[in-house]
Amino acid sequence: MRYFFVLFFALFELSAVAAVKNVIFMIGDGMGYNQIHISQELLGKKLFLTTLPVSGMVFTSSANNRVTDSAAAATALATAHKTNNQSLGKDPQGQDLPSLLEKLKKTGKRTGLVTTTSLTDATPAAFATHVSNRKEHPLIAQWLLKNKVDLLLGGGRKYFLPLLSQFKKEHYELITSTQELSHILPLKNKRLLGLFHEEHLNYEIDREEIPEMAEEPSLSQMTQAALQFLKNSPKGFFLMVEGGKIDHAGHEIDLATMAREVLEFDHAIEKAVAFAKKRKDTLIIVTADHETAALGFVEATDIPHLQSLQVSAQYMIQKFQKDSEGKFTEESIKTVLKDHAHFPDVTQEELQILQKISNRSVHDASVVLGSLISKRAEVVSVSLKMIQTGNTHGHSSAPVPVFSFGPGAQSFTGTMDNTAIPLKISKLTHVSLH
Ligand SMILES: [Zn+2]
Repeated sequence: MRYFFVLFFALFELSAVAAVKNVIFMIGDGMGYNQIHISQELLGKKLFLTTLPVSGMVFTSSANNRVTDSAAAATALATAHKTNNQSLGKDPQGQDLPSLLEKLKKTGKRTGLVTTTSLTDATPAAFATHVSNRKEHPLIAQWLLKNKVDLLLGGGRKYFLPLLSQFKKEHYELITSTQELSHILPLKNKRLLGLFHEEHLNYEIDREEIPEMAEEPSLSQMTQAALQFLKNSPKGFFLMVEGGKIDHAGHEIDLATMAREVLEFDHAIEKAVAFAKKRKDTLIIVTADHETAALGFVEATDIPHLQSLQVSAQYMIQKFQKDSEGKFTEESIKTVLKDHAHFPDVTQEELQILQKISNRSVHDASVVLGSLISKRAEVVSVSLKMIQTGNTHGHSSAPVPVFSFGPGAQSFTGTMDNTAIPLKISKLTHVSLH
């Protein structure tokens, strides 16, 4: 009997101290509870992520603002420290904060960052960058090189082009198409740099309409390729996957587009869980950095109208034609909104609002068009003024969910602060962040 207990406790101890080998950290940018709920309503089905076995609730405020931006939120998720909005991998005093990725790399794990936005955008950058201003894209590209992240898949080609010869020296293979991504070989001494767009990748909802998107892999394709590339690392891997454009569609109050981005993020989660199910050493964390646009449905919301939308507001803006003075023509606004937004008519007021934004950037104009469409459908959201002038362009302080799967998943339950997530991961992988 005594020996039995000794053996039992020895085994218990062993299982208690065995470190998690692989970590897949999945972040839906701007994916609060309502983004999940709205997507399920518009898609008419349950998302896979809601079937994950463990879930909890996460508060997201930053060091200097109740409402966080993506930079401070990603820094909290990457380093377990709160910082000011706009800061990446630095504390409010400007000191560098070591990230989970950097710590795990030192233990011999291979590392990867995958996103649908530019790779220099806040969420991927926070895991391997230390800059006080998130807008320093060329500098962020240099940090990703300096940290020798083994796999980088996403957009932002223009920031990497000046550094290509240096990336090659560090054994990176450059790929730029879906075709090339499907042929990658996970060689031991090779790193991978996949750049599929000059800036951000296009929206999933527009895939059928934009022929060039054939060259852009989907988030689930990139996730699958990343897992193939990293899976045989002897000491395991750390992979961050971001559904980065859920946030963009949120800022544009473009709910149909947002739902398709959430769905593609969900497909990526499904791929990751299928991978982890075949082994017992892989922890998956799914969460969001913050909620975007305080989105919600109320009784009056015209859900069938939102469900009928088949292209993004961005696509519609680009279909408007301009007259000799550079103003969107009345004719083209009416045609495009009839064909794609399913407006039976366009009011004089709506015409004026849209003609006024003829010279704005596609995103800024889409914010206005998306708001118009959502207003007709009685969607609840943050004001247009807050999107156009706020520090975070319309994020909210609403808590976000966390879901987990695999060894150690149980510790991600209950309510927590965003900094608790990397801290728990660091304990499970036996590295120190504090
Ligand atoms: Zn945002």
